[in-house]
Amino acid sequence: MNEIQLSKRLHAVANYIPKQAVLADIGSDHAYLPSYALLNGLCKRAIAGEVNEGPYQSARAQVKRLNLQESIDVRKGNGLSVLEENEATCVTIAGMGGTLIKTILDEGKDKLSSVERLILQPNIHAIEIRKWLFENEWVLIDEMILEEDGKIYEVLVAEKGNPNTAYEGLSLETAMLMGPFLMKKKNDVYAKKWTHELRHWENVYDQLQQASDNESLKAKKEEVETIIRLIKEGL
Ligand code: SAM
Repeated sequence: MNEIQLSKRLHAVANYIPKQAVLADIGSDHAYLPSYALLNGLCKRAIAGEVNEGPYQSARAQVKRLNLQESIDVRKGNGLSVLEENEATCVTIAGMGGTLIKTILDEGKDKLSSVERLILQPNIHAIEIRKWLFENEWVLIDEMILEEDGKIYEVLVAEKGNPNTAYEGLSLETAMLMGPFLMKKKNDVYAKKWTHELRHWENVYDQLQQASDNESLKAKKEEVETIIRLIKEGL
């Protein structure tokens, strides 16, 4: 086998890899993304990082099968700890929750000094990543939302710079939740996701209305009201 057919989701991630990048794909599993990137000239070298033995062995086997051992280094370890300082220029982290992606970035900050671009694909809780990027001087330069096999995914692309730039003219609270670029593009997948979320939070609110009142319920209701307001603003 000398070809890799990527999922639509990973294809969207791959499209943002800058030419000549030294790519670090963290949580690489079968190393499909770095293999594809290498075979298609999207990067010049890659590191595939994996914390778990099974996926690490799958990544090694894949790279060997494609005879890419010279160009893709498969390393076992937690998050960005597999990298040397000043090694990678582009980091991809895909297929995990936003909270885990945020933790990986935060714990590996010292490995990001040479990194020019982050391409992050959270399955849920993208807001956690947007907040982290904002607080750590990374500016969103694009976002994408797509649907594959009935699931909706977001891709966030960031470079070092003034984080405010991405949020100009938008309500920060709403854009953190829904994505500044996605809010502006407002495509059908975005509308589908947030219409569904709105219905979900309205149901939660109805249930809270029926529960007997106390302080913690009041706080929860306010929290849900805020989410509903933000979603309505962004839709
Ligand atoms: N990135 C691939 C994709 O998008 O298709 C694989 C996604 S898979 C659902 C998540 C992978 O991340 C698993 O193989 C898991 O072992 C790995 N992983 C989870 N936490 C990790 C961490 N802290 N460091 C490195 N790898 C991690």
